[in-house]
Amino acid sequence: MKQNLFVYNTLTRKKEEFKALDAPHVGMYVCGPTVYSDAHLGNCRTYISFDLIFRYLTHLGYKVRYVRNITDAGHLEGDADEGEDKISKKAKLAKLEPMEIVQKYTVGFHDVMRALNILPPSIEPTATGHIIEQIELVKTILEKGYAYEVDGSVYFDVEKYNASHDYGMLNGRNLDDLLNNTRSLGGQEDKKGKLDFALWIKAKPEHLMKWPSPWSIGFPGWHLECSAMSDKYLGEQFDIHGGGIDLAPTHHTNEIAQNIAACGKIPANYWIHTNMLTVNGQKMSKSLGNSFLPYELFTGKNSILNKAYSPMTVRFFMLQANYRSTLDFSNDAMEASEKGFKRLMNSFGLLNELKTSLTTEVEIKSLSNRCYEAMNDDFNSPVLIAELFEASRIINSVYDGKLKIDTENLDRLKQLMQNFVVDVLGLKDEQAANDDLPQVLSFIVDLRNEAKESKDYATSDKIRNGLQKIGFQLKDTKEGTNWTKI
Ligand code: AMP
Ligand code: ZN
Repeated sequence: MKQNLFVYNTLTRKKEEFKALDAPHVGMYVCGPTVYSDAHLGNCRTYISFDLIFRYLTHLGYKVRYVRNITDAGHLEGDADEGEDKISKKAKLAKLEPMEIVQKYTVGFHDVMRALNILPPSIEPTATGHIIEQIELVKTILEKGYAYEVDGSVYFDVEKYNASHDYGMLNGRNLDDLLNNTRSLGGQEDKKGKLDFALWIKAKPEHLMKWPSPWSIGFPGWHLECSAMSDKYLGEQFDIHGGGIDLAPTHHTNEIAQNIAACGKIPANYWIHTNMLTVNGQKMSKSLGNSFLPYELFTGKNSILNKAYSPMTVRFFMLQANYRSTLDFSNDAMEASEKGFKRLMNSFGLLNELKTSLTTEVEIKSLSNRCYEAMNDDFNSPVLIAELFEASRIINSVYDGKLKIDTENLDRLKQLMQNFVVDVLGLKDEQAANDDLPQVLSFIVDLRNEAKESKDYATSDKIRNGLQKIGFQLKDTKEGTNWTKI
C-alpha cells in the first residue's frame, strides 16, 4: 500500500488519489448481471475490468470486500418502468419457474467467469434475497418525503429531490437538460414527473414474481436492489461503486438519489465506469443482435469468427485496452492478441531455465517501478502489458546468452512476472496445462486397466464413466486403450 494509486472518478470527472475510508479495508460494489440470458462478451469485458481492479487493490495489500449482485427480479424490458420483467417473460415463454431461469443463467455465468479466470466476489447477493431490505428502504424514502404512492405503486419524486439536491450529479447534467432529453410519459400517467422512477411496482395479476408490501402485492424497481444491498453489506458510505458506463445516466443516477434521499450521503466516494466492447463500432448488446457468447469464441462456433480463441487469449485481448476506452472486436485484433499472449507466456515459461552471471547488464527495479506506475495511473493495463513485453524481451535475450543477469535481478524478474502476469492480470499458461493432459490421462487409463485386470469392474466402470462425464471417451482396442475428447 506504499503506492499512490490514482483513480478516475466519474463523479468528479478527474483522476483522484485513492484514499480508502477505513484502510486497509476497501468496500467495492459492482452491478452484476441480470440472469435471464447468457452473459455476452461485452458483459464479460466489464467483469474482467473490475477483476483487474479487485486483483490490483488486493495485490497492494487492501482487504477488499467485493460485492457483485445478481439481478434476479425487477429488471423490466423498458428503461422507464415499462414492459415485462425480463426473467418472468423468459420463464413464461419456456414454461419454467422464474427460479429455474435464474438458476440456469447464474450457473452459466459462474462457469464463464471461472473460464476467464475472474475471481469470485466476496459476496454475491440477489435481489430476491433482499426484498425486506428493499421494502424498508422504500418506507424510509417515503418518510423523508421524496416518494409518493399511486394505486399500490411507489415512485421517486425527482423534481422534489432535485430542489434540494443535485439529481444529475454523476453525469454533470442539470435537471432542465435531462427533462428536455426525456420522452413524455406515454402510458405512465401515474407518475408526476417525466424523470420519476418506480421504487415499488404493483404487480399485474399475470406477473409471476411478486411479494406482499404495505402498498400492494408487487415487486421492487430495478435500481432499488443495489441501493439496499450496498448499504447492507458495505454501509451507508463505502469506497468504490462500479459498472458499465451505460449504467451511469439512469441506474447509478437513481441509485445515488435513493441513497441520498434515505440517509443524506452519497453511497460511494469513487464511481468507476468501464467502457463498452463494440463490434464494427457499435456497442455489443443483446438487443442490437450483434452480441456473441464467450463459449462461441472458445469453440469458434459463430460465423463471424475465423477460428476459436482460448479464454486466456480473450482475457488478454480485453486487458490490452484501457478499461475507459471502447474496444472494438475483430478477428484481426484477436489474432494479434493471441500472438502477443503466446509471446508473453513463452518467455514466462523460460524463467526457470535462465542462467545467472556474476555481473548484470539489466536492472529490474526500474522496470518493476514502471509496472506499478502504469497500474497506479488508473489501472492502465495496456501500458503495463507494454512493460511486460520489455520483461519478455529481457528473458529471451538472457536465454539466448545475449544478455547477462545476476541472481538478485533474476529473482526480481521472477517476482515481477508472478506479481503482474499472474496475480494482477490474472493470466494463466493454458499451454502448460494442455501439455500435461496426455500424461495425466494415460496415468488414469493405466489405473483403470489395472482395476479391470484384477476384475474390479466397479472401479474400472467408475473411472470410464467419470471421464465420460467430464468429456473424455475411452476406447479399448487390440493395441490398448485410446482416449478422445468428446
Ligand atoms: P446487464 O446484464 O445487461 O445488466 O449488464 C451487465 C453489465 O455488463 C453492466 O455493468 C453493463 O454495463 C455491462 N455491459 C453491457 N454491455 C456491455 C458492452 N458491450 N461492453 C462492456 N460492458 C457491457
Ligand atoms: Zn446496480
